Amino acid sequence: MTKYMTCINCPLGCQLQVDIDGEIKVKGNKCKKGEDYAKNEITNPTRIITTTVKVKDGDRPLLSVKTDREVPKNKIFDIMKEINKVEAKAPIYIGDIIIENVLGTGANVVATSRVEKIKD
Ligand code: SF4
Repeated sequence: MTKYMTCINCPLGCQLQVDIDGEIKVKGNKCKKGEDYAKNEITNPTRIITTTVKVKDGDRPLLSVKTDREVPKNKIFDIMKEINKVEAKAPIYIGDIIIENVLGTGANVVATSRVEKIKD
């Protein structure tokens, strides 16, 4: 079987042709990163998750967050469920860990924005 994908490792965006019958063979990549990316996409696809969590006592109702490393694509749904359970308490600063080692993936969910505590 042949799959087609776009390498996302640099702005060139090489169009990759990936032959996955037996040994994985990659064509269309201009460098080794493209081959590694394609092989990883076939065997263990991963993604950074970017989303928001609810905030308690904040000057804004939502905080933007992301995982600090890529997580397996097949765990994204379950990780999103964990993230949706959380309510972060203001004040929150960029880089604060909102969920440590989410679902044992080794990735932390960290704040990517700042939310001040609402004034009484
Ligand atoms: S294969 Fe290499 S040159 Fe092509 S998009 Fe990926 S990183 Fe860039």
